[in-house]
Amino acid sequence: MKKILLLLLLSALFMGCAKSQKYIIQVSLGGWDKADYTADEIIGRLDSVSRIIPLKDVIIGWTADADIYREVGNYLHGKGIGMLLWMPVFAETEDVCDNTPAVDLWGRLPGSYSLTEDEGFRFNCPSNPDNIGNVIALYDSLFADCGFDGVFLDRIRTQSFVCGIGGVLNCGCPICEERFKEEGVSLADVRAAWEDMGDVFLSVTGYTPEDGFRFANPLAAKFFEAKGRIVSGSVAAVADSLRARGLRVGMDLYAPFMAPFVGQDYSVLAQHADFIKPMLYRCTFAPAGMGFEYGLLRSSIPGAFGYPSFGMDVDFLNSQLDAMAPYPCDKFPGIEINYREGIVPTSPEYVRESVQAVLDHHFDGAVLSWNIMEAPVEHIKAVAVR
Ligand SMILES: [Zn+2]
Repeated sequence: MKKILLLLLLSALFMGCAKSQKYIIQVSLGGWDKADYTADEIIGRLDSVSRIIPLKDVIIGWTADADIYREVGNYLHGKGIGMLLWMPVFAETEDVCDNTPAVDLWGRLPGSYSLTEDEGFRFNCPSNPDNIGNVIALYDSLFADCGFDGVFLDRIRTQSFVCGIGGVLNCGCPICEERFKEEGVSLADVRAAWEDMGDVFLSVTGYTPEDGFRFANPLAAKFFEAKGRIVSGSVAAVADSLRARGLRVGMDLYAPFMAPFVGQDYSVLAQHADFIKPMLYRCTFAPAGMGFEYGLLRSSIPGAFGYPSFGMDVDFLNSQLDAMAPYPCDKFPGIEINYREGIVPTSPEYVRESVQAVLDHHFDGAVLSWNIMEAPVEHIKAVAVR
């Protein structure tokens, strides 16, 4: 009897280890107006990629062109692959919605980051119910008939240190001020503390991958906890509305160590997501790149103490994979496989090392970011080579 039990246990363990991981890829069509690619070009690319690696879903968006989605969806569904709409929530909607912008605690618009003149974008207030309603209405009016199996929510945060301290001490509009009050935080007190202490207000006394940074000032700690509940609570409302339409929901998240600064509380978000995709980009020197964002944190608040140095090596990647492991939804860490000189200097070795770390954690798979149309074929092949 004992032998049989042992055999059952071993086979269960083997099955667990042998679960087949699949990949989710992203197709970036450009902005709202005109897609950068035709449906035939996209289908051709997806077909060649699917011969190299097993695909679970394709995230595509967000041009308002129903015909492209219908054609690509027909192809994907014939192959048993899902199609998710790549949808921005709290930014990049100004061309199609009349949304209210987010402001810092002094009521000012934070600066916006742009790689080029036309790549900058504005963030909107996460609490304003009209902003949330507009996003859902956008889905219903433009995308409901396109054959999507789900939605991948992007820009579900406030600005980061990319927009300076005003991006992080944010949003301070009257609606958010009220929400913070409900969470037990007076924004007037936070403003006064920042004006009195400056950078030191955001000092930390320690860091662990599981619990993140420990703020030295209790008010700073309370501010970020409240911000996480407010921003993530609004994301949860958007996610629930879309799930009520029968859609699966994926979420684009900052890496666990930076998430509190942008209002992403994994413990709230994971309860409303089918899967999360923390952006674990070690080789991206642009927003969401882990080293890039952390470097901006340190240069934005040079007077704050306690922030350790982090090397962007595979050990650091493993620490972030460990940190995301406990959350109760599917987990597809985001690994960048694009290449752009000076901005995303990835290599096949980098891709192989990063994907291997994800697989070693026995997660459900990985999201290969952030535009499969641009990713070098050698990088896609590197995913397949184990
Ligand atoms: Zn607000």
